Amino acid sequence: MRRFEKLVSGCATLIILWGGVLISHRVWRPDLNREFRKINHRYFADGLHGVRVEYRVLEYEGETRKYSNGDFLILIDTEGDASRILRHESCHIFLPWDDENRNHGGSFKDCMRRFEQ
Ligand SMILES: [Zn+2]
Repeated sequence: MRRFEKLVSGCATLIILWGGVLISHRVWRPDLNREFRKINHRYFADGLHGVRVEYRVLEYEGETRKYSNGDFLILIDTEGDASRILRHESCHIFLPWDDENRNHGGSFKDCMRRFEQ
C-alpha cells in the first residue's frame, strides 16, 4: 500500500469508529419524524395523519398523546430503541383511539403483525 492509500484507509477507519462511538453514546440519534414517515409509508400506506414525533426524557419507552384537533404527538424516550417504539406507538394511532383493544389487546397484536413481514 502506498503512503497516500494508507492515510485514506486510516482516515476511513477513524470515521467509522467515531460514528460507532456517537451512535453507542446516543449523541447521534435518528431523525424521528423521518423514521415515522418511513414507517407510515411502508406499513400504513401513508394512512396516519397529523403525527409529530419528539424525543423526551421519559420514565418509560414511549407515549402517544392525542390533541383535541385530532393530531398526535409521539414521545420517544431518549434512551429507547426509537424504531421499535415508533412502530408500537404507530399502532396506537392506527387503531380507534377509544377502542379498549388499542391497549395491547387483540387488535393491537394484529396491527403489530404487519411489522413481521
Ligand atoms: Zn403501548
